[in-house]
Amino acid sequence: MIATKTAGDLAFDRLEALAGFTEEPGRLTRLYLTPAHKAAALQVLAWMREAGMKTRIDAVGNVVGRYEGVEPGLPALLIGSHIDTVRNAGKYDGNLGVVAAISAVAALHRRFERLPFAVEVLAFGDEEGVRFPVTLNGSRAVAGTFDPAALDVRDADGVTLREALKQFGCDPAGIPDAARRPGDVLGYVEVHIEQGPVLEDEDLPVGIVTAINGASRFGIEVTGVAGHAGTVPMHLRRDALAAAAEMVLAVEREAKDTSGIVATVGMMEALPGAVNVIASGAKLSLDLRSSSDDLRREAVARLKRQFDGIAERRSVGVQVTPRYDEPAATCAPWLVDQMAAAAERSGIRPLRLPSGAGHDGLAMIALCPIAMLFVRCAGGVSHNPAEAITAQDADAAIRVLTDFLRHLTPPQ
Ligand SMILES: [Zn+2]
Repeated sequence: MIATKTAGDLAFDRLEALAGFTEEPGRLTRLYLTPAHKAAALQVLAWMREAGMKTRIDAVGNVVGRYEGVEPGLPALLIGSHIDTVRNAGKYDGNLGVVAAISAVAALHRRFERLPFAVEVLAFGDEEGVRFPVTLNGSRAVAGTFDPAALDVRDADGVTLREALKQFGCDPAGIPDAARRPGDVLGYVEVHIEQGPVLEDEDLPVGIVTAINGASRFGIEVTGVAGHAGTVPMHLRRDALAAAAEMVLAVEREAKDTSGIVATVGMMEALPGAVNVIASGAKLSLDLRSSSDDLRREAVARLKRQFDGIAERRSVGVQVTPRYDEPAATCAPWLVDQMAAAAERSGIRPLRLPSGAGHDGLAMIALCPIAMLFVRCAGGVSHNPAEAITAQDADAAIRVLTDFLRHLTPPQ
Protein backbone atom coordinates (compact mmCIF):
# COMPACT_ATOMS: atom_id res chain seq x y z
CA MET A 1 0.00 0.00 0.00
CA ILE A 2 1.30 3.44 -0.89
CA ALA A 3 0.68 5.95 1.87
CA THR A 4 -0.46 9.30 0.48
CA LYS A 5 1.30 12.34 1.76
CA THR A 6 -0.81 14.75 3.77
CA ALA A 7 -0.60 18.52 3.37
CA GLY A 8 1.32 18.42 6.66
CA ASP A 9 3.93 16.04 5.17
CA LEU A 10 4.33 18.29 2.14
CA ALA A 11 4.68 21.33 4.40
CA PHE A 12 7.38 19.46 6.31
CA ASP A 13 9.29 18.75 3.07
CA ARG A 14 9.13 22.45 2.25
CA LEU A 15 10.30 23.49 5.72
CA GLU A 16 13.30 21.15 5.29
CA ALA A 17 14.00 22.71 1.89
CA LEU A 18 13.77 26.24 3.32
CA ALA A 19 16.17 25.29 6.14
CA GLY A 20 18.78 24.70 3.42
CA PHE A 21 18.86 28.45 2.65
CA THR A 22 21.34 29.53 5.30
CA GLU A 23 24.39 31.76 5.67
CA GLU A 24 26.23 29.28 7.89
CA PRO A 25 26.84 25.66 6.91
CA GLY A 26 25.47 23.18 9.43
CA ARG A 27 23.10 25.59 11.13
CA LEU A 28 20.19 27.82 10.11
CA THR A 29 20.93 31.54 10.07
CA ARG A 30 19.01 33.64 7.55
CA LEU A 31 19.16 37.34 8.26
CA TYR A 32 17.21 40.09 6.48
CA LEU A 33 18.37 40.95 2.92
CA THR A 34 21.23 38.44 2.78
CA PRO A 35 21.83 36.12 -0.21
CA ALA A 36 20.27 33.29 1.85
CA HIS A 37 17.14 35.43 2.36
CA LYS A 38 17.02 36.13 -1.40
CA ALA A 39 17.29 32.42 -2.25
CA ALA A 40 14.53 31.55 0.26
CA ALA A 41 12.36 34.39 -1.11
CA LEU A 42 12.69 33.06 -4.68
CA GLN A 43 11.77 29.55 -3.52
CA VAL A 44 8.69 30.88 -1.69
CA LEU A 45 7.76 32.86 -4.79
CA ALA A 46 7.94 29.68 -6.92
CA TRP A 47 5.67 27.80 -4.47
CA MET A 48 3.19 30.70 -4.48
CA ARG A 49 3.08 30.63 -8.29
CA GLU A 50 2.53 26.86 -8.26
CA ALA A 51 -0.44 27.46 -5.90
CA GLY A 52 -2.09 29.75 -8.46
CA MET A 53 -0.95 33.11 -7.10
CA LYS A 54 0.29 36.18 -8.91
CA THR A 55 3.62 37.03 -7.28
CA ARG A 56 6.05 39.87 -6.67
CA ILE A 57 8.73 41.03 -4.26
CA ASP A 58 7.92 44.48 -2.86
CA ALA A 59 10.26 47.38 -2.08
CA VAL A 60 11.24 46.11 1.41
CA GLY A 61 11.83 42.52 0.28
CA ASN A 62 8.46 41.02 1.25
CA VAL A 63 7.35 38.17 -1.02
CA VAL A 64 3.71 38.77 -1.97
CA GLY A 65 1.38 36.25 -3.65
CA ARG A 66 -2.19 37.13 -4.59
CA TYR A 67 -5.01 34.67 -5.23
CA GLU A 68 -7.98 36.51 -6.67
CA GLY A 69 -11.52 36.01 -5.39
CA VAL A 70 -14.69 35.43 -7.44
CA GLU A 71 -13.81 38.58 -9.34
CA PRO A 72 -10.48 40.41 -9.65
CA GLY A 73 -9.64 43.35 -7.39
CA LEU A 74 -11.68 42.39 -4.31
CA PRO A 75 -10.40 43.36 -0.83
CA ALA A 76 -7.91 40.79 0.40
CA LEU A 77 -7.44 38.74 3.53
CA LEU A 78 -3.69 38.82 4.21
CA ILE A 79 -2.06 35.66 5.59
CA GLY A 80 1.61 35.57 6.38
CA SER A 81 4.60 35.21 8.59
CA HIS A 82 8.34 35.77 8.28
CA ILE A 83 11.23 33.94 6.55
CA ASP A 84 14.10 35.64 8.36
CA THR A 85 15.51 33.75 11.36
CA VAL A 86 17.66 34.32 14.43
CA ARG A 87 21.24 32.92 14.39
CA ASN A 88 21.35 29.15 14.82
CA ALA A 89 17.56 29.03 14.50
CA GLY A 90 14.91 26.33 14.39
CA LYS A 91 13.15 25.47 11.12
CA TYR A 92 9.59 26.41 12.09
CA ASP A 93 9.50 29.89 13.64
CA GLY A 94 8.05 32.10 10.89
CA ASN A 95 8.64 29.65 8.05
CA LEU A 96 5.75 27.42 9.14
CA GLY A 97 3.28 30.30 8.80
CA VAL A 98 4.40 31.07 5.24
CA VAL A 99 4.36 27.42 4.13
CA ALA A 100 0.95 26.79 5.81
CA ALA A 101 -0.57 29.86 4.11
CA ILE A 102 0.65 28.68 0.68
CA SER A 103 -0.75 25.18 1.42
CA ALA A 104 -4.18 26.64 2.25
CA VAL A 105 -4.28 28.61 -1.00
CA ALA A 106 -3.04 25.55 -2.92
CA ALA A 107 -5.99 23.58 -1.47
CA LEU A 108 -8.41 26.19 -2.87
CA HIS A 109 -6.58 26.33 -6.21
CA ARG A 110 -6.66 22.53 -6.67
CA ARG A 111 -10.47 22.63 -6.61
CA PHE A 112 -10.74 25.88 -8.62
CA GLU A 113 -12.41 27.47 -5.60
CA ARG A 114 -12.75 31.25 -5.58
CA LEU A 115 -13.81 33.06 -2.40
CA PRO A 116 -15.85 36.26 -2.04
CA PHE A 117 -12.54 38.01 -1.25
CA ALA A 118 -8.94 37.78 -2.45
CA VAL A 119 -6.27 36.02 -0.40
CA GLU A 120 -2.73 37.39 -0.26
CA VAL A 121 0.16 35.48 1.23
CA LEU A 122 2.98 37.60 2.66
CA ALA A 123 6.46 36.35 3.54
CA PHE A 124 7.97 39.14 5.62
CA GLY A 125 11.76 39.43 5.82
CA ASP A 126 12.49 41.34 9.01
CA GLU A 127 10.61 40.01 12.03
CA GLU A 128 13.52 38.91 14.21
CA GLY A 129 15.42 42.21 13.92
CA VAL A 130 18.82 40.50 14.16
CA ARG A 131 20.77 42.22 11.36
CA PHE A 132 19.72 45.86 11.87
CA PRO A 133 18.83 47.69 15.09
CA VAL A 134 15.23 48.05 13.82
CA THR A 135 12.58 45.40 13.34
CA LEU A 136 9.21 44.62 11.66
CA ASN A 137 10.23 46.69 8.61
CA GLY A 138 8.41 44.30 6.26
CA SER A 139 5.08 44.48 8.07
CA ARG A 140 5.50 48.18 8.89
CA ALA A 141 5.90 48.95 5.17
CA VAL A 142 2.69 47.04 4.38
CA ALA A 143 0.87 48.74 7.28
CA GLY A 144 2.09 52.15 6.11
CA THR A 145 4.06 52.87 9.31
CA PHE A 146 7.59 52.38 7.94
CA ASP A 147 9.88 55.10 9.33
CA PRO A 148 12.12 56.44 6.50
CA ALA A 149 14.82 57.18 9.12
CA ALA A 150 15.26 53.40 9.38
CA LEU A 151 16.92 53.43 5.93
CA ASP A 152 20.04 54.97 7.48
CA VAL A 153 20.58 52.40 10.26
CA ARG A 154 23.63 50.17 9.79
CA ASP A 155 24.35 46.49 10.37
CA ALA A 156 27.49 45.28 12.20
CA ASP A 157 29.53 45.64 8.96
CA GLY A 158 28.45 49.26 8.48
CA VAL A 159 26.04 48.49 5.60
CA THR A 160 22.97 50.73 5.71
CA LEU A 161 19.48 49.32 5.29
CA ARG A 162 19.20 51.43 2.11
CA GLU A 163 22.32 49.80 0.64
CA ALA A 164 21.21 46.31 1.69
CA LEU A 165 17.82 46.81 0.01
CA LYS A 166 19.51 47.84 -3.24
CA GLN A 167 21.83 44.81 -3.10
CA PHE A 168 18.74 42.63 -2.61
CA GLY A 169 17.24 44.14 -5.77
CA CYS A 170 14.73 46.45 -4.10
CA ASP A 171 14.13 50.15 -4.74
CA PRO A 172 13.84 51.94 -1.36
CA ALA A 173 12.05 54.83 -3.10
CA GLY A 174 9.15 52.45 -3.71
CA ILE A 175 8.52 51.69 -0.02
CA PRO A 176 5.56 54.09 0.34
CA ASP A 177 3.84 52.13 -2.46
CA ALA A 178 4.15 48.88 -0.47
CA ALA A 179 1.58 50.30 1.99
CA ARG A 180 -1.98 49.00 1.68
CA ARG A 181 -5.12 51.05 1.95
CA PRO A 182 -7.37 49.89 4.82
CA GLY A 183 -10.30 49.53 2.38
CA ASP A 184 -8.34 46.98 0.31
CA VAL A 185 -7.67 44.69 3.27
CA LEU A 186 -10.07 42.58 5.38
CA GLY A 187 -7.60 41.48 8.01
CA TYR A 188 -4.27 39.82 8.73
CA VAL A 189 -3.99 36.20 9.89
CA GLU A 190 -0.83 34.38 10.92
CA VAL A 191 -0.05 30.74 11.74
CA HIS A 192 2.95 30.47 14.09
CA ILE A 193 4.53 28.00 16.49
CA GLU A 194 3.43 28.72 20.05
CA GLN A 195 6.96 29.21 21.47
CA GLY A 196 5.49 28.22 24.83
CA PRO A 197 4.36 25.02 26.58
CA VAL A 198 0.58 25.59 26.93
CA LEU A 199 -0.72 23.62 23.91
CA GLU A 200 1.54 20.67 24.72
CA ASP A 201 0.27 20.76 28.30
CA GLU A 202 -3.34 20.90 27.09
CA ASP A 203 -2.71 18.11 24.54
CA LEU A 204 -3.92 20.26 21.63
CA PRO A 205 -2.38 20.61 18.12
CA VAL A 206 -3.45 24.24 17.68
CA GLY A 207 -4.80 27.14 19.74
CA ILE A 208 -6.45 30.47 18.95
CA VAL A 209 -4.58 33.61 19.97
CA THR A 210 -6.55 36.31 21.81
CA ALA A 211 -3.87 39.02 21.84
CA ILE A 212 -0.18 39.64 21.45
CA ASN A 213 0.84 40.60 24.96
CA GLY A 214 1.91 44.12 25.77
CA ALA A 215 5.20 44.42 27.61
CA SER A 216 6.84 46.80 30.07
CA ARG A 217 10.53 46.67 30.90
CA PHE A 218 12.32 48.51 33.69
CA GLY A 219 15.80 48.87 35.08
CA ILE A 220 15.83 48.85 38.89
CA GLU A 221 18.71 50.25 40.92
CA VAL A 222 19.00 49.67 44.65
CA THR A 223 21.48 51.75 46.63
CA GLY A 224 22.77 50.58 50.02
CA VAL A 225 26.00 50.98 51.96
CA ALA A 226 29.09 48.82 51.48
CA GLY A 227 30.67 47.30 54.55
CA HIS A 228 33.01 44.60 55.79
CA ALA A 229 31.31 41.20 55.74
CA GLY A 230 33.00 40.35 59.05
CA THR A 231 32.65 43.52 61.10
CA VAL A 232 29.26 45.12 60.42
CA PRO A 233 26.58 43.61 62.71
CA MET A 234 23.43 42.38 60.97
CA HIS A 235 21.12 45.04 62.45
CA LEU A 236 23.35 47.89 61.20
CA ARG A 237 23.51 46.77 57.57
CA ARG A 238 21.98 48.46 54.54
CA ASP A 239 22.46 45.54 52.17
CA ALA A 240 21.39 46.47 48.64
CA LEU A 241 21.49 42.88 47.36
CA ALA A 242 19.32 41.49 50.17
CA ALA A 243 16.77 44.25 49.43
CA ALA A 244 16.93 43.40 45.71
CA ALA A 245 16.34 39.73 46.53
CA GLU A 246 13.17 40.68 48.39
CA MET A 247 12.07 42.67 45.34
CA VAL A 248 12.61 39.65 43.06
CA LEU A 249 10.33 37.57 45.27
CA ALA A 250 7.76 40.40 45.36
CA VAL A 251 7.71 40.34 41.54
CA GLU A 252 7.16 36.60 41.50
CA ARG A 253 4.39 36.80 44.11
CA GLU A 254 2.62 39.66 42.31
CA ALA A 255 2.59 37.73 39.00
CA LYS A 256 1.50 34.48 40.67
CA ASP A 257 -1.34 36.23 42.49
CA THR A 258 -2.61 38.16 39.44
CA SER A 259 -4.11 36.01 36.70
CA GLY A 260 -3.30 37.32 33.22
CA ILE A 261 0.21 38.64 33.83
CA VAL A 262 3.68 37.16 33.74
CA ALA A 263 6.68 38.94 35.27
CA THR A 264 10.36 38.10 35.21
CA VAL A 265 13.57 39.37 36.77
CA GLY A 266 16.09 37.89 34.35
CA MET A 267 19.18 39.85 35.30
CA MET A 268 20.72 40.87 38.62
CA GLU A 269 24.08 42.35 39.45
CA ALA A 270 25.68 43.04 42.85
CA LEU A 271 28.09 45.96 43.38
CA PRO A 272 30.95 45.95 44.06
CA GLY A 273 30.48 42.19 43.83
CA ALA A 274 33.00 40.72 46.24
CA VAL A 275 32.67 37.75 48.56
CA ASN A 276 33.57 39.71 51.71
CA VAL A 277 31.80 43.01 50.98
CA ILE A 278 28.16 43.88 51.83
CA ALA A 279 26.64 45.02 48.52
CA SER A 280 26.43 48.80 48.18
CA GLY A 281 24.37 48.52 45.05
CA ALA A 282 22.24 46.10 43.05
CA LYS A 283 20.89 46.35 39.53
CA LEU A 284 18.03 44.21 38.30
CA SER A 285 15.78 44.00 35.27
CA LEU A 286 12.00 43.66 35.28
CA ASP A 287 9.96 42.38 32.32
CA LEU A 288 6.19 42.33 32.75
CA ARG A 289 3.67 41.20 30.10
CA SER A 290 -0.08 40.90 29.75
CA SER A 291 -2.78 40.79 27.10
CA SER A 292 -4.48 43.57 29.11
CA ASP A 293 -2.75 46.97 29.22
CA ASP A 294 -4.79 47.89 32.33
CA LEU A 295 -3.71 44.77 34.23
CA ARG A 296 -0.10 45.40 33.24
CA ARG A 297 -0.11 49.05 34.35
CA GLU A 298 -1.88 48.24 37.63
CA ALA A 299 0.65 45.51 38.42
CA VAL A 300 3.53 47.88 37.67
CA ALA A 301 2.04 50.49 40.04
CA ARG A 302 1.57 47.91 42.83
CA LEU A 303 5.14 46.65 42.38
CA LYS A 304 6.57 50.16 42.58
CA ARG A 305 4.76 50.68 45.91
CA GLN A 306 6.12 47.37 47.20
CA PHE A 307 9.67 48.27 46.12
CA ASP A 308 9.37 51.58 48.00
CA GLY A 309 8.14 49.73 51.10
CA ILE A 310 11.02 47.24 50.99
CA ALA A 311 13.55 50.04 50.46
CA GLU A 312 12.16 52.07 53.36
CA ARG A 313 12.17 49.15 55.78
CA ARG A 314 15.77 48.31 54.87
CA SER A 315 16.98 51.94 54.70
CA VAL A 316 18.18 51.64 51.12
CA GLY A 317 17.31 53.70 48.05
CA VAL A 318 15.49 52.40 44.99
CA GLN A 319 15.06 53.87 41.53
CA VAL A 320 12.86 52.35 38.81
CA THR A 321 13.58 53.49 35.24
CA PRO A 322 11.24 52.59 32.33
CA ARG A 323 13.15 51.06 29.40
CA TYR A 324 10.42 49.84 27.03
CA ASP A 325 6.64 49.97 26.78
CA GLU A 326 4.65 48.23 24.05
CA PRO A 327 0.84 48.06 24.28
CA ALA A 328 -0.98 44.77 23.71
CA ALA A 329 -2.33 44.03 20.22
CA THR A 330 -5.77 42.52 20.71
CA CYS A 331 -6.98 40.07 18.07
CA ALA A 332 -10.31 40.97 16.44
CA PRO A 333 -13.16 39.04 18.11
CA TRP A 334 -14.87 38.27 14.76
CA LEU A 335 -11.67 36.67 13.41
CA VAL A 336 -10.96 34.88 16.71
CA ASP A 337 -14.51 33.47 16.86
CA GLN A 338 -14.40 32.26 13.26
CA MET A 339 -10.97 30.67 13.77
CA ALA A 340 -12.32 28.94 16.89
CA ALA A 341 -15.32 27.69 14.89
CA ALA A 342 -12.96 26.31 12.21
CA ALA A 343 -10.95 24.47 14.89
CA GLU A 344 -14.16 22.97 16.31
CA ARG A 345 -15.26 21.80 12.84
CA SER A 346 -11.91 19.95 12.68
CA GLY A 347 -12.71 18.28 15.98
CA ILE A 348 -10.25 20.37 17.97
CA ARG A 349 -11.21 21.96 21.31
CA PRO A 350 -10.76 25.69 20.58
CA LEU A 351 -8.45 26.81 23.37
CA ARG A 352 -7.86 30.57 23.44
CA LEU A 353 -4.50 31.83 24.68
CA PRO A 354 -2.42 35.02 24.56
CA SER A 355 0.89 35.28 22.73
CA GLY A 356 3.78 35.98 25.05
CA ALA A 357 6.15 36.77 22.18
CA GLY A 358 5.96 39.61 19.63
CA HIS A 359 4.95 39.04 15.99
CA ASP A 360 4.33 40.94 12.73
CA GLY A 361 0.74 41.42 13.92
CA LEU A 362 2.08 44.16 16.24
CA ALA A 363 2.73 46.23 13.11
CA MET A 364 -0.21 44.96 11.01
CA ILE A 365 -2.78 46.03 13.62
CA ALA A 366 -2.15 49.64 12.53
CA LEU A 367 -3.66 48.64 9.16
CA CYS A 368 -6.36 46.07 9.87
CA PRO A 369 -7.85 43.55 12.35
CA ILE A 370 -5.47 40.69 13.20
CA ALA A 371 -5.71 37.06 14.33
CA MET A 372 -3.27 34.21 14.93
CA LEU A 373 -3.37 30.42 15.08
CA PHE A 374 -0.70 28.83 17.28
CA VAL A 375 0.75 25.37 16.62
CA ARG A 376 2.04 23.13 19.42
CA CYS A 377 5.83 22.92 19.63
CA ALA A 378 7.85 20.44 21.68
CA GLY A 379 8.64 21.74 25.16
CA GLY A 380 7.76 25.28 24.06
CA VAL A 381 11.32 25.56 22.71
CA SER A 382 12.07 28.14 19.97
CA HIS A 383 14.95 30.25 18.64
CA ASN A 384 16.99 27.07 18.89
CA PRO A 385 17.81 24.16 16.53
CA ALA A 386 15.93 21.91 18.98
CA GLU A 387 12.67 23.62 17.94
CA ALA A 388 10.26 20.83 16.91
CA ILE A 389 6.68 20.31 15.71
CA THR A 390 5.01 17.30 14.09
CA ALA A 391 3.72 16.90 10.53
CA GLN A 392 0.33 15.92 12.04
CA ASP A 393 0.10 19.23 13.89
CA ALA A 394 1.17 21.16 10.78
CA ASP A 395 -1.56 19.28 8.91
CA ALA A 396 -4.14 20.23 11.55
CA ALA A 397 -3.11 23.90 11.27
CA ILE A 398 -3.42 23.84 7.45
CA ARG A 399 -6.82 22.13 7.72
CA VAL A 400 -8.12 24.70 10.22
CA LEU A 401 -6.74 27.62 8.19
CA THR A 402 -8.23 26.35 4.91
CA ASP A 403 -11.60 25.72 6.54
CA PHE A 404 -11.45 29.18 8.15
CA LEU A 405 -10.92 30.74 4.68
CA ARG A 406 -13.80 28.78 3.15
CA HIS A 407 -16.22 29.94 5.85
CA LEU A 408 -14.90 33.45 6.50
CA THR A 409 -17.65 36.05 6.72
CA PRO A 410 -16.48 39.62 7.29
CA PRO A 411 -18.66 41.70 9.64
CA GLN A 412 -21.27 43.72 7.77
ZN1 LIG B 1 8.45 34.22 14.58
